[in-house]
Amino acid sequence: MKLEPTCLPVTHPTGQYDVLVGTDLLSNLPELADIRGPIALITDSHVGPLHAHRLGEVACTVTIPAGEQHKTLTTVATIYDQLLAAGIDRQATVVALGGGVVGDVAGFVAATYLRGVDFVQCPTSLLAMVDASVGGKTGLDLPQGKNLVGAFKQPTAVLADVSTLHTLPPEEFAAGMAEVVKHSLISNPELFGRLETRDWKLTAQSSISNLQSLVATAIEVKRDVVQEDPFEQGRRATLNLGHTFGHAIEQVSGYRVRHGEGVAMGLVAAASLSARLAHCDLALQGRIESALQAQGLPTRIPAEFEANAIYQAMFSDKKKAAGKLRFILLRDVGNVFMTGEVSEQDVLACLTAVQST
Ligand code: NAD
Repeated sequence: MKLEPTCLPVTHPTGQYDVLVGTDLLSNLPELADIRGPIALITDSHVGPLHAHRLGEVACTVTIPAGEQHKTLTTVATIYDQLLAAGIDRQATVVALGGGVVGDVAGFVAATYLRGVDFVQCPTSLLAMVDASVGGKTGLDLPQGKNLVGAFKQPTAVLADVSTLHTLPPEEFAAGMAEVVKHSLISNPELFGRLETRDWKLTAQSSISNLQSLVATAIEVKRDVVQEDPFEQGRRATLNLGHTFGHAIEQVSGYRVRHGEGVAMGLVAAASLSARLAHCDLALQGRIESALQAQGLPTRIPAEFEANAIYQAMFSDKKKAAGKLRFILLRDVGNVFMTGEVSEQDVLACLTAVQST
């Protein structure tokens, strides 16, 4: 039986778009995303050979090398060159086919090429589906740090074709699951229950209907948050749950720890800090650890990363306000809040408590 796609409408300050989650979406891109002009496809060297053919005819395809190290202004400049050489004008729609890196780069190009052209996201990694493709943020890395340049660019449609997940490497799927766990902790206890009671590791047998439901439920959390706070002035900060710790752990590891792994450890650290400050029961930390472990994610900070070094790294995160660290803490599953009132001593004690022995 063919499953109908799930449609999640998103409203933003200048309009509205639909996020479709399902299968067979890529082969019906122009109809589903209501694209009438030429398509300028931007993809990467891993995803293009696997999935670009499903889109049918496009006016031009730009393939960037895969990997975070290519999320740069240099890559953007090479894309502008190729779009101009192919005669892409303002009638065109830029389509991003790939993970969060492709989405961020293509979104920035769509925001700036010829002062802006239409943009459609076709995310192919779990992380891009549940997180990066929804909300209208784009970002590029500078030598000084990640995502230091960017623009808000709302897509006109997002097509999350979950059948593409079957070619995603298992460790990338697990990394995306860290964001799914995070979303469940922010506002969906029912979803957290689903993650606590089974592992979602991807296998050839993973059922499409289960994946569709998981992805759609996780996107809904992000959709609701970004709708309320499109320009990241308030509630959107809760999406950084686990990220103040996570980014710092990634940085101290010299980026050997993947983003999703850093977030997983960061979620445990956030729960530990919340319990230490008596906002929640310590048992919540244990439940979060079990849910993350079930998805094949690490939960303890490797002992070789010093608590002090992680603490110092937190200060280079662009999300700190006026030199002050802000943390998203938990009262319970589905009940999180932001605070700037945490002492250095408590952060260091919590980092030590969640290190592996
Ligand atoms: P990624 O784009 O590097 O993808 C991970 C790897 O998986 C890459 O090698 C990619 O080629 C490969 N891949 C993707 N889909 C595949 C598929 N279906 N089959 C086979 N291989 C596939 O990284 P990511 O984890 O998708 O995204 C991380 C990026 O997203 C970071 O740069 C982060 O800053 C950004 N991000 C942006 C936002 C936002 O709101 N704009 C939010 C979260 C993350």
